[in-house]
Amino acid sequence: MPTYKLEAIVLRTREYGETDRLVTLLDRDGVRRTALAKGVRRPRSSLAAGLQPFTYSRLLLWRGRSLDGISQVQVIDGLRGLREDLHAFAAATYVAELAEAFTQEGAPSPGVFNVVLGVLRELAASRGDGQAQAVLLRHAEMRLLDLAGLGIELDRCLACGRELGPGHPPAGYSAELGGAVCAACRPGRPGASPLDPAAWQVLRRVRLPALQAARRLRVEPEVIRRAAEITATHLVYNLGRPFRSPAFLAILGEVKAGGPVRVPEAATGTGGGDGQRRNGP
Ligand SMILES: [Zn+2]
Repeated sequence: MPTYKLEAIVLRTREYGETDRLVTLLDRDGVRRTALAKGVRRPRSSLAAGLQPFTYSRLLLWRGRSLDGISQVQVIDGLRGLREDLHAFAAATYVAELAEAFTQEGAPSPGVFNVVLGVLRELAASRGDGQAQAVLLRHAEMRLLDLAGLGIELDRCLACGRELGPGHPPAGYSAELGGAVCAACRPGRPGASPLDPAAWQVLRRVRLPALQAARRLRVEPEVIRRAAEITATHLVYNLGRPFRSPAFLAILGEVKAGGPVRVPEAATGTGGGDGQRRNGP
């Protein structure tokens, strides 16, 4: 049987058959793949450790007719910190959900892998720092939107075209237009959400490709929350799909901010995998 090697992050796993799992992988070229891990739920399976959600591994796969299978796994980075902090785990689940939304099965999406691995590593090291985690999630959202050509326009008003800045501050965000509108134009856009200069600055900073810019950012939780409302609106408007991760739902107010975060079952592979998923084999 022909085989091939791959370095990939495990985005998600779900149960399959009696002892198997289907594993959603993101490889270094930004190709999303679904592969079969046979017998991984048996005790002492040699595959189990390297196929935990968010693990970065080196894999050997065999080519199947409809589905490829995983025959060997070697952990490159277990990102253990993600499993020691529920909020970091929830945030990572959201990053994985974003990664799925911005990639295609079998086709490359350049740049996505580096954003995802970089943010997961920072989250794993975030040690319960909720503010840092929130900034990292905004970085992931803005970077993935920009890479997909769906970025939020923040440099000029999309109604009058004038450049935004201290002398001409932003006042709103229009999902329909795809970005910011100035104070003069906002009244003419009744559907626009509020976008104040502080949240606007945060969004401009976190979209910079260097992760360090996001890592060093220290802002009021309230400002990052307002920035999150803009990215959430933009994502749903442009991708046309709902996100189910707790970290995303928290933004929408469905989960009380700072409240208990439930580790989603689907992400841990202990259940929940069923016909609702989009990319079955
Ligand atoms: Zn304007």
